[in-house]
Amino acid sequence: MVNQIRMIISQDISVEKAWQLLENVFDPEIPVLSVIDLGVIRDVHLIKFPIGEEGFEVIITPTYSGCPAMDVISTNIKMALLQNGFKNIKIIQQLSPAWTTDWMTEKAKEKLKAYGITPPTGKSFDKKYLEEDLKVECPQCRSKDTTLLSQFGSTACKALYRCNDCKEPFDYFKCH
Ligand SMILES: [Zn+2]
Repeated sequence: MVNQIRMIISQDISVEKAWQLLENVFDPEIPVLSVIDLGVIRDVHLIKFPIGEEGFEVIITPTYSGCPAMDVISTNIKMALLQNGFKNIKIIQQLSPAWTTDWMTEKAKEKLKAYGITPPTGKSFDKKYLEEDLKVECPQCRSKDTTLLSQFGSTACKALYRCNDCKEPFDYFKCH
C-alpha cells in the first residue's frame, strides 16, 4: 500500500511529461520517426472537468488525409499516456491547416535518410519541388542520378525511385 502511494506521487502528470512520452510514439509506417519528429502533434492541453477530474487533449494533424496509419497512431498515443498514469485522454484531429512535410524536424530528415528513405526535398510552397523531374538523392550512395519508377512507393506518401549508380531502388518521402 505504501509503495503504491509513493508510485502515484512520483508520477509526473503534466503537459511537459506528455510531450516527453510522445517522443516514444512512432509512426507504424516509418518506425524510426516519432509523432513529434513528424510534426503530427500540434498541441497538448490540460482539461479540467467540473467534478475536479483532469484530463488531456492531444491535437493531431494527420500526415495524409485518409492515411490508415492515423488510427493506429491515435491508439498508440492514448496507450502511451494511459500506461503512464494519464487519464481521460481525448485525441482531436485537426485537419486545417493541413499537415506539410515542412513540419518534419531536421532530426526526422536525418533519421529518414539513415533508415534508407530520402527525406522530402525543399519546402511545400516551392512548386519546383513538386515537379516530376525533381532530382532526388539516393539514400545509399548519395548519387543524384536517380529515376522515378512510380509516384507511389510502399505507401501513398512515398514515391519509388531507382539509383542509376548503385542500382538500388529506394523510397522518397514526397514533399507536400
Ligand atoms: Zn545509389
